[in-house]
Amino acid sequence: MKAAVILSSIGLFLFIQCSPVPVSGRRQLNLIPQSQLLALSFQSYQQFLDENQIVRGTEEAKMVATVGKRIQHAVEQYFRAENKLEVLEGFRWEFNLVKDSSVNAFAMPGGKTAVLTGILPVCENATGLAVVLGHEIAHAVARHGNERMSQLLLVQLGGMALSEALSEQPQLTQQLALIAFGVGTQVGVLLPYSRIQESEADRLGLIFMAMAGYDPNEAVGFWHRMEKLGGPSVPEFLSTHPSTENRMRDIRRLIPEAMKYYQKQSLKFKSAKWYALQSCL
Ligand SMILES: [Zn+2]
Repeated sequence: MKAAVILSSIGLFLFIQCSPVPVSGRRQLNLIPQSQLLALSFQSYQQFLDENQIVRGTEEAKMVATVGKRIQHAVEQYFRAENKLEVLEGFRWEFNLVKDSSVNAFAMPGGKTAVLTGILPVCENATGLAVVLGHEIAHAVARHGNERMSQLLLVQLGGMALSEALSEQPQLTQQLALIAFGVGTQVGVLLPYSRIQESEADRLGLIFMAMAGYDPNEAVGFWHRMEKLGGPSVPEFLSTHPSTENRMRDIRRLIPEAMKYYQKQSLKFKSAKWYALQSCL
């Protein structure tokens, strides 16, 4: 009887700790209450901005803000249509370009996004940047930051609750957060996203960029350019986003689904232009 009670409590515990990924439905380990994770994310982001140089007022900085906001609106539109706006609860979107030669970009939980200047030549233009931002924002929306932070707390701190970890080992917890949120270079440790997380981010990222009006076919060219940079000094983006030989095949397979959103979007743009023209006549 006692054993049954214990077993059922363990079952309940596991049930509470595992939640479905928005969109894909995969069960993921989320040990941390979302409000606490967002507070940690916002604090880590601010710390990152304080310690780095934000680029303001240039064409490139404007491009980061424009592409970021267009994808943000696409994400909001997507979850509104799915009747799942709660996925974005507590988000405080922000898009900054940061002066740093590293080839990297990240979106922390809650939509706190940074593009490092070093990745811009690989993006080439706004559509290439949309590949990166769509993918990174997909990691944030799919709560991969919570999943990775939960895994790190389990491994590094024996499953300690975040609030406890923060009060007992604040510095280590901050470092783990930077690693979990893809900013590992700040502490010298890079943690690759898992293959499952990568394919979720690829699928959602293509849909989001398409909904924002950027052609998802451009993703293939972007990943080719990124892979060409590989070699003795692998760019950070490639270290944290491992590109398997199957990735290109998977991306090509996912593009037709994303194109449906792109076509819908371009029809909308066309009709908007048509109405604008009519109102001028
Ligand atoms: Zn990724």
